[in-house]
Amino acid sequence: MLKNKTNNNLKASNLSSLKTVYLGIGTNKGTRETNISSAINLLSNIKGIKLLKISKMLKNPPQEGIKSGYFLNGAIKLLTSLTPLELLKVCKKIEKKQGRKETRIQRRKISRVIDLDILFYGNEIINTKELTIPHPMIEKRYFVLIPLMEIAKRFVHPLLKKSIKELYIDYCAPTSIKNCASAV
Ligand code: ADP
Ligand code: MG
Repeated sequence: MLKNKTNNNLKASNLSSLKTVYLGIGTNKGTRETNISSAINLLSNIKGIKLLKISKMLKNPPQEGIKSGYFLNGAIKLLTSLTPLELLKVCKKIEKKQGRKETRIQRRKISRVIDLDILFYGNEIINTKELTIPHPMIEKRYFVLIPLMEIAKRFVHPLLKKSIKELYIDYCAPTSIKNCASAV
């Protein structure tokens, strides 16, 4: 089902201009599994996007001072003919369509129905007002590294020049995070 739909999505594209992209996906509000599958379904219907791989979703407690229920986090590998900004717009549109409201109130994050982040856009390095790529928190978040270990183990971070596996080992070695053990 995915295959036919996504092939059509890229029909008119020049194959050499397609980029491999990794997205992070997360949710901590409502029916998490449904939020994830709806977002993936919406993504798969976008012209210029072909989904390649979807990691398992990791269930984990809220991090970084967010006071809320548990999160589901995962990663998605896709091919796209969209530019980084076009892709960001698509992500924001999907977040909005799924009912995501403002996530920061007085600089404190609150629950979100869905969060789509561009982790990597090929090997590009982008630092603009709207976009920081690679996403700046990849190497500091086990809930991003573990899903990436499943679908992008050998991908090399274009700034840090280390593979996902190396970043994962760097992150997990000094910690006692029990989730780390399951991903190697
Ligand atoms: P967070 O993902 O950090 O919880 P938000 O999803 O609310 O925060 O994103 C806030 C803004 O971050 C977005 O409006 C977007 O312009 C910006 N942003 C910068 N880099 C990226 C990226 N790589 N992927 C997605 N959004 C990004
Ligand atoms: Mg985001």
